[in-house]
Amino acid sequence: MFVDTRQMGQGKEIVTTVCIIGAGIAGITIAREMEKKGLDTCLLESGGMDADDATRDLYRGSSVGMEYQFADGCRARFLGGSSNCWGGWCRPLDAWDFEKKDWVPHSGWPFGLDELLSYYQRTHELLQLGPVNFDPDYWERAINRDDVRRIPFTSGRVRDSISQFSPPVRFGKRYRHELKVARYLRVFLHANVTQIMQDRDVNKITHVKVKTLSGSSMTVQAKIFILATGGIENARLLLASNQIEAAGIGNRHDLVGRYFMDHPRLLSGSVKFAPAWAGNKLYDIKYNYMNTAVSANGVHIASQFALTKETLAQEKILNARICFCSEFPGEGSEGAKALFRCKQALLKKEQPGFSFASDLATMLSEPVNTLSYGFTRLFHPRALIKNIGFQVIVEPAPDPDSRVSLNMQQRDSLGMPRVQVQWRLNDLVRRSVDRSIELVAQELQMSGVAQVNLGPRIEGGVWPPTFEKEGTWHHMGTTRMHDSPSYGVVDSDCRVHGMANLYIAGSSVFPTAGANFPTITLAALALRLSQHVISKFNTTTTQLPDHLLAASANSENINPESVAASIGSSGLPAV
Ligand SMILES: Cc1cc2nc3c(=O)[nH]c(=O)nc-3n(C[C@H](O)[C@H](O)[C@H](O)COP(=O)(O)OP(=O)(O)OC[C@H]3O[C@@H](n4cnc5c(N)ncnc54)[C@H](O)[C@@H]3O)c2cc1C
Repeated sequence: MFVDTRQMGQGKEIVTTVCIIGAGIAGITIAREMEKKGLDTCLLESGGMDADDATRDLYRGSSVGMEYQFADGCRARFLGGSSNCWGGWCRPLDAWDFEKKDWVPHSGWPFGLDELLSYYQRTHELLQLGPVNFDPDYWERAINRDDVRRIPFTSGRVRDSISQFSPPVRFGKRYRHELKVARYLRVFLHANVTQIMQDRDVNKITHVKVKTLSGSSMTVQAKIFILATGGIENARLLLASNQIEAAGIGNRHDLVGRYFMDHPRLLSGSVKFAPAWAGNKLYDIKYNYMNTAVSANGVHIASQFALTKETLAQEKILNARICFCSEFPGEGSEGAKALFRCKQALLKKEQPGFSFASDLATMLSEPVNTLSYGFTRLFHPRALIKNIGFQVIVEPAPDPDSRVSLNMQQRDSLGMPRVQVQWRLNDLVRRSVDRSIELVAQELQMSGVAQVNLGPRIEGGVWPPTFEKEGTWHHMGTTRMHDSPSYGVVDSDCRVHGMANLYIAGSSVFPTAGANFPTITLAALALRLSQHVISKFNTTTTQLPDHLLAASANSENINPESVAASIGSSGLPAV
């Protein structure tokens, strides 16, 4: 059921078994799993059913060093979280993304791809993907079109890599009914967690404090807490919860907020195809993104170039994905941006700052740019292509000085310190951009597919104007996973080191990012974490391991039936 926290009056004390903070892809995935097992669960969500300006403002903060945008349009703060604006690209991490590499300091996961395989499989239903198959040969055969062809790879250094598109699933809409009719789950909307409270022995969480923008407050006690507020906010909330430990929760080794990562993304170079390859749609983002040509059995795919594992090791660089990007007239103009915003708003995609009246005025003031952009975006006429460049997305290097911290001088309307992000990209990242482009260019030339004019090198120079200031909207690494508390905030079960009953879900736990889009991996991790939590309750309380026994002391036994009955008669203001 949904509960409007604003209607609850002051000081209500809620008691539950599992408390999940944040109803994005991670939080909703875990809540659904808890519901299936009949575990009494509260899901606390900052926003309502739709976006609103006052709630959106809570995400705003500042960037230091390199200019970086991470708020408006880069995260959504209402039911479904950033699934309200994500693009749906999905591909599991490569097996070697989990490995420790001697040329990448702080790299590696505590487990390998095998550990996630069964959960990756389950994400296909959750995210409405196609078959569990990312083999380029399979998709070329399934699509079976003359204008969707794999290029020959002759050097052994470059390969192609398939991503599938989720429709994209907007979790707040797709799973709304399920959340509404859930028996064991209460979803509190407009419920902003402002403090996570630990006991005086500092090894377990007792409750969280919740505030609404309308001024009411409540507390939620639980046996297990799962923080799922996104890659930046997970760190913010831990750092701000500093009433017992001044550095914040889980931060005894000064790691919370450090190792912040996003995928740098830019356009570079210019490609001229040999006639035989000029009409090929397989590797061009403009013809890939949800284009029916590049789809089979209703599943849309995209293909990108990547370097082989051996080449990455030889070159001592990071993973990357490269594809073509055709540029059309009008792109980048104010008229084009206004038209794009209108389209996104029509699709009910979160569009902060969208105003139909002012966007219409902008479009009318730039009719040629707006019309050319609209026309070419619809039809992608090859004759009008101005340039074909590379779109490059590179793995970020884990760097302790790339970090999310609190700006104690600025507070949001709930009194929480605003967030400050310092995104850093070191020389290894710059060299990886340069070398990845050079090797893909060599491959295209050797195989007679295209001639390439390379853009200026990044290493030793500056990021070009085509470098995207919002990265790729992938906020990762701020509560990294490591078996040792000296090197990681969470252990391999996603439990905060030193905390009996606090877990973290989302891409903030990624210790190494790889070059693929993160959401399918964070969804797989959320399913894995759910299983871990559920396994704690399949047994009687007296058989629980020590850290959970401590957490469950002084709490009532879990009895789903009585919980369901109490929810039914709770008198909470349903939405
Ligand atoms: C424009 C855009 C395009 C993207 N495209 C892709 C893509 O194609 N492929 C891909 O893999 N990824 C993509 N992403 C990233 C993807 O959206 C995120 O990885 C994913 O949505 C993160 O899910 P999450 O549940 O961890 O966090 P979020 O989606 O951030 O959810 C966190 C939730 O917590 C709530 N919350 C925050 N603070 C509090 C608080 N204090 N109290 C209570 N609730 C709180 C928020 O309101 C939100 O609902 C894209 C992102 C953007 C912005």
